[in-house]
Amino acid sequence: SKTNEGLMARRQSAVAQGVGQIHPIFTERAENSTVWDVEGREYIDFAGGIAVLNTGHLHPKVKAAVAAQLEAFSHTCFMVLGYESYIQVCEKLNQLVPGDFAKKTALFTSGSEAVENAVKVARAYTKRAGVIAFTSGYHGRTMAALALTGKVAPYSKGMGLMAANVFRAEFPCELHGVSEDDAMASIERIFKNDAEPSDIAAIILEPVQGEGGFYAATPSFMKRLRALCDEHGIVLIADEVQTGAGRTGTFFAMEQMGVAADITTFAKSIAGGFPLSGITGKAEVMDAITAGGLGGTYGGSPLACAAALAVIEVFEEEQLLTRANEVGAKLKTALTQMQAKFSQIAEVRGLGAMIAIELIENGKPAAQYCPKILAEARDRGLILLSCGTYGNVIRVLVPLTAPDEQIEAGLAIMEQSFAAAFN
Ligand code: PMP
Repeated sequence: SKTNEGLMARRQSAVAQGVGQIHPIFTERAENSTVWDVEGREYIDFAGGIAVLNTGHLHPKVKAAVAAQLEAFSHTCFMVLGYESYIQVCEKLNQLVPGDFAKKTALFTSGSEAVENAVKVARAYTKRAGVIAFTSGYHGRTMAALALTGKVAPYSKGMGLMAANVFRAEFPCELHGVSEDDAMASIERIFKNDAEPSDIAAIILEPVQGEGGFYAATPSFMKRLRALCDEHGIVLIADEVQTGAGRTGTFFAMEQMGVAADITTFAKSIAGGFPLSGITGKAEVMDAITAGGLGGTYGGSPLACAAALAVIEVFEEEQLLTRANEVGAKLKTALTQMQAKFSQIAEVRGLGAMIAIELIENGKPAAQYCPKILAEARDRGLILLSCGTYGNVIRVLVPLTAPDEQIEAGLAIMEQSFAAAFN
């Protein structure tokens, strides 16, 4: 019979090493917030396939919608023969994305593709080529998205310099000594040293940095960015690939920021485990690209559209935004109690159910504990993820549909794993 060790050995000889794997575990089956491996071991899933499973593994409604679509057709390519579900997803997103203006949407497959296309639209609309992105930002692994990603190792290590015309501003983060004023000053510095505002097409940021460490932008910072963009005719892009689809307690995190972006990217949990991404933005901005300039063979696949429509329904039926805030409060309370016991936990933070802890020891990021904590948790039946520019953050992305008992069991394992790792 198959073993994790045996599959790991085959993986090592068959799969390119650039494709990493956090846990040496191979999945047999999964349901809601539980995963079973090929050896029959059961795990509580606090990773959710990296923020993809806000509605859990194989939500019955999502599964039924995809199964029904599979009986009808799986692919025509929306650029060849249309289908209603693509339009329905766009109509829904035009409503759900914040912003009091007419909107249009285009669908793709991955978050990286959404980012690439957001930049293409901003360039076409402004007739400018520069983009400002932030330290610790993560926008994907395709070439333009990678150029925007604010962390070299491991993402672009060994690949040479990335595409030009990307300028790096500082993301505000009080814990690491970057104030909002510092962050704004870093943009002014770009305007002074590197590029005129009239050469900048877009400013792109995550309302809450995901891979970067779950650092949230404040509404006041977002308002200052919005004002700066308005002053200079720059397109503001909110990358909501990780924050979107309800993770932060509102369907999009920008709802809590007091201002709207011109273009919003979404992916991951929007289709509950099926590959779908997209960009929604001001109609006049989105229409800056002429027919044929946006799209892709699989963009807005019928199976993924069926899944997304089901996810949006499930959010309403099961009141998952309320649930996200409940889950977030539960996680925050428990982790704050653990912070009192373990001095290495410097901060418990997050928005809605997008919660993380950051480890600091002797004033320095304590990344060394993360692999140990992940391994200790895994041995006890909990799948966790780390993140952060310094690799010293443990994040929780548990399905919002997870039962309380399982969240509590997961938290208990986290506490045991901290104790084991710190002692
Ligand atoms: N943007 C953000 C904010 C993300 O978190 C991610 C994925 N972690 C991406 C873009 C890239 O998405 P994908 O991996 O689907 O290309």
